[in-house]
Amino acid sequence: MADVPKSEELAKIDHSLPPWQGWMDTPTEIREGIACYGVAPKNTEVVGFPNPRQWSPFDEDWKLPENWKEIVLEGLRERIERFRSLKIFMDICVRCGACADKCHFFIGSGDPKNMPVLRAELLRSVYRKEFTTAGKIMGRFAGARELTYDVLKEWWSYFFQCTECRRCSVFCPYGIDTAEITIIGRELLNLLGLNIDWIGGPVANCYRTGNHLGIQPHAYKDMMDFFVDETEEITGVKVEPSFNRKGAEILFITPSGDVFADPGTYTCMGYLILFHYLQSLGLDITWSTYASEGGNFGFFTSHDMAKRLNSKMYAEAKRLGVKWILGGECGHMWRVINQYMDTFNGPADFLEEPVSPITGTKFENAKSTKMVHITEFTADLIKHGKLKLDPSRNDNLVVTFHDSCNTARGMGLLDEPRYIIENVCNNFYEMPENTIREQTFCCGAGSGLNAGEDMELRMRGGLPRANAVKHVHERHGVNMLACVCAIDRAVFPDLMQYWVPEVDVTGVHELVANALILDGEKERTTNLRNEPLPGMEIEEEE
Ligand code: SF4
Ligand code: SF4
Repeated sequence: MADVPKSEELAKIDHSLPPWQGWMDTPTEIREGIACYGVAPKNTEVVGFPNPRQWSPFDEDWKLPENWKEIVLEGLRERIERFRSLKIFMDICVRCGACADKCHFFIGSGDPKNMPVLRAELLRSVYRKEFTTAGKIMGRFAGARELTYDVLKEWWSYFFQCTECRRCSVFCPYGIDTAEITIIGRELLNLLGLNIDWIGGPVANCYRTGNHLGIQPHAYKDMMDFFVDETEEITGVKVEPSFNRKGAEILFITPSGDVFADPGTYTCMGYLILFHYLQSLGLDITWSTYASEGGNFGFFTSHDMAKRLNSKMYAEAKRLGVKWILGGECGHMWRVINQYMDTFNGPADFLEEPVSPITGTKFENAKSTKMVHITEFTADLIKHGKLKLDPSRNDNLVVTFHDSCNTARGMGLLDEPRYIIENVCNNFYEMPENTIREQTFCCGAGSGLNAGEDMELRMRGGLPRANAVKHVHERHGVNMLACVCAIDRAVFPDLMQYWVPEVDVTGVHELVANALILDGEKERTTNLRNEPLPGMEIEEEE
């Protein structure tokens, strides 16, 4: 993080009113540190997106087609006709300002164009000019303006400074969801090949190999074999996962980040240990090396691409002949499944309504998608007394929980992770009320913004979340931030290192596996990270 200003500097944020200058006359600054690199042509070409070419947002010329304006306005017209919500969001904002200070990017940057109301206005002003009589006649007096090259660049800058987290929508009395406006804004930019490479790369990889990291099936399997050896060394028990097994009852799909990036890897080992424990109780589950991604970066480019990537999970479920799908700890995977799956590729009538083979619980909330979140599944196991747990193995941890924006606001998953944590850990503290559950603050780098080159933006956007973690660290000695999202697990280590270095990051199923007592296990002396368990420090030294 060499190029990011020191945290003391970044914390000096000016929220005072700028010297009077209308927002339409305030030029946009696209600079290193807060902007991501443009998508590379190879990543655009592989999925057939428009205008593949080498370009940079820091250049004057973005190499657009001559008729770029026509393409964008026609795209906007189509979407206004197709999405009634968009039309409503364009028309009903009363500029009450209730959302203005709710965005983490505004809080962390002080930039008025990061106020949700103004972010939406960037698009709305063009909508007025092109699609409303008042805007056509009265122009700026009606808040309308032409779509110019500078306006397009302004869109690009601010639609890629929004993580589509929906926090602002919780506070809007009219239910306006600025994330949906950003989603459409990014779709329009995508029509001109104006995406970022941190999104375009994972999309291309997922399309080619089934996961965002571009890992091929044999490498996926190699990594899992490594986890099998690791867990055996720690627990003395050999787990035996199966892959691509036809006729299994359940297909398990998790984000590839869990398989290939720390600390998600410990969560992945947690799944393996839990599934092994449940095998003798009747769990019949398989992993897939083809549907090897739960996340969906296509969602950050266009509805059509999200649909294409989402379909692979269901195609694989059909190919293997499973009854239903269990999904791992992920964020946007669940937003896509809960909000869009039915109209994308569903309803998945060829699958069965999920029923836990261990407890008999019918997951009625998954009636249509046939996909259950692993924290729902595990919380149900604990509720029915099916897991032997020793929470004291996590006694070196003082844990708090971050609600992922997508699972919290996108599917209402609020209580299950907390219920699990409270059963596998003895020390759990909530962050302040206005920073959790539906009001949770974003990690600052969701929706594809977790690149390396925009680190200043990430540290700014993550400040409100980090501030709440700092609060419980100072008050209760919290040293571990738990979450149920692979993006969070990828983003938080840098964010914590920057703002609250005393706090580490974990997935919930890492904590579960640490506490789980396996039949035939050896005396456990370390946790899944090979750190000594509480009271075992001396044994480990010896
Ligand atoms: S969706 Fe999130 S990031 Fe986007 S404007 Fe609203 S609060 Fe800010
Ligand atoms: S809270 Fe809703 S109505 Fe009020 S300014 Fe924000 S988007 Fe507009």
